[in-house]
Amino acid sequence: MNEQELEAYFYSLDRSLFLDNDMKKYAALDTPLSIGFGQTISQPSLVLEMTKLLAPEKVSKVLEIGTGSGFQTAILAKMSGKVFTVERIAELMEKAKERLASLNFSNVYFKVGDGSQGWQEHAPYDRIMVTAAASVVPDELVNQLALGGRMVIPIGPSNLQKLQLITKSDNGDILTKTIGMVRFVELKGQYGWTE
Ligand code: SAM
Repeated sequence: MNEQELEAYFYSLDRSLFLDNDMKKYAALDTPLSIGFGQTISQPSLVLEMTKLLAPEKVSKVLEIGTGSGFQTAILAKMSGKVFTVERIAELMEKAKERLASLNFSNVYFKVGDGSQGWQEHAPYDRIMVTAAASVVPDELVNQLALGGRMVIPIGPSNLQKLQLITKSDNGDILTKTIGMVRFVELKGQYGWTE
């Protein structure tokens, strides 16, 4: 991954495009902000850190779980080949879809559904970015990660989680590394928290 290109795009991307009118004035703050439905757009510095950890390549096929506002999706779309993004709240997905289209991205595929199950139809994925927290790593997501792939996922209880980098070696061995502590909304669904 070209970190300079990532940073250049990250700092050029107007975060207010991903916020509703009443929240736009807070766009420059390095904090999570409400996007409605009890959900948040993530803290920008954490989006950048997590993207660096994921290290997408221009040829990567990326699965993103938790589209939310679409802000992280845009950064992944800029830095990878294709992005498959899953969001459980249809209204958020619709807004994100419009925003990504207005930015002229044509390499993003959207699905409304339970991302704790991944998106089997297009697996395996070179990279998996999960932007909601599960109590344990869903096996389905590990199974859908390609050999040599990387996954970034917050794991732990609702109030505080470990940000984990999971890598799958070329022979299928799984290595898990804890990067730091984070606080994300819950990953709901079959392999997440109960709805
Ligand atoms: N990355 C997003 C952004 O830049 O705006 C922020 C994502 S927000 C912290 C987490 C999102 O995960 C919410 O929009 C929430 O609805 C979604 N989510 C939670 N559980 C999910 C599931 N099982 N499948 C898909 N999306 C889910």
